[in-house]
Amino acid sequence: MMDSMRKFRLTVLVTAWLAASAASTAWAWGPLGHRLAGKLAEKHLTPQAKAAVAELLEPGETLAEASTWADEHRRDVKGSGPWHYVDVPLDQDHYADRFAGNVPEKGDIVPKIREFRAILKDRRRPLAERRFALRFLVHLVEDLHMPLHVGENHDRGGNDTQIQFFDQGTNLHRLWDSDMILRAGTDEGKWLDVLVAMDTPEARARTMSGRVEDWATESLRAARKAYSNPATGRMIRKGTKLGERYQQANLPVARRRLYQSGIRLAMVLNEVFADEPKQ
Ligand SMILES: [Zn+2]
Repeated sequence: MMDSMRKFRLTVLVTAWLAASAASTAWAWGPLGHRLAGKLAEKHLTPQAKAAVAELLEPGETLAEASTWADEHRRDVKGSGPWHYVDVPLDQDHYADRFAGNVPEKGDIVPKIREFRAILKDRRRPLAERRFALRFLVHLVEDLHMPLHVGENHDRGGNDTQIQFFDQGTNLHRLWDSDMILRAGTDEGKWLDVLVAMDTPEARARTMSGRVEDWATESLRAARKAYSNPATGRMIRKGTKLGERYQQANLPVARRRLYQSGIRLAMVLNEVFADEPKQ
């Protein structure tokens, strides 16, 4: 009796979990992408920013851990879904605020980044509010670098474009969140080595430029390439089969966006905490 009840419960749980994961919309770089950017950023924080981050986060919480908080809690934070992206049509030349805000479900990642930056700079605000702002700021700066969090083709940033990638069913958004990155390697340490090897003084100088709006425009332009099938030169649509050609054409882009998001996250935090009192 007990046994079959347990089995039943387990079946219900597993079924619910499967249903939830099948139906779930991808919201961001997967955890690996976020953690890598957080780890890279940590290496570039000023001592002042490092101290301020440690003070604001929970004891022992690293930037890599903080970077996935917003996805893990997106159901608890009501209305936060559209904070993670902005839908800019692929034929636009650059990001502009008119794409955000007026229609909230079109996403408002850029205004949210500005808002959280302002909250973090305001030391009169309560710690809990600044901690929340820090966790979101970290996450959103990283999400902004994911091309399909900005550019889209009336398919919710690729979420509705079901495709085959190396003969596995997925969607274009998920391919960019994690399929492509995980295919290149699942070892966080090795991945971090790759990003650190990219970190030459020239690359860093080039990366530490522009404003949040420019970074969104870069994502929009990368998204145009992301929607193009390198094997045919055509737009990727439902049912398109992608594989090695796509991986080779786009993995360097994903790598560069991860690198840039880590470096720029450090840049944003260093600037935010520049006038934090010395600890
Ligand atoms: Zn996200």
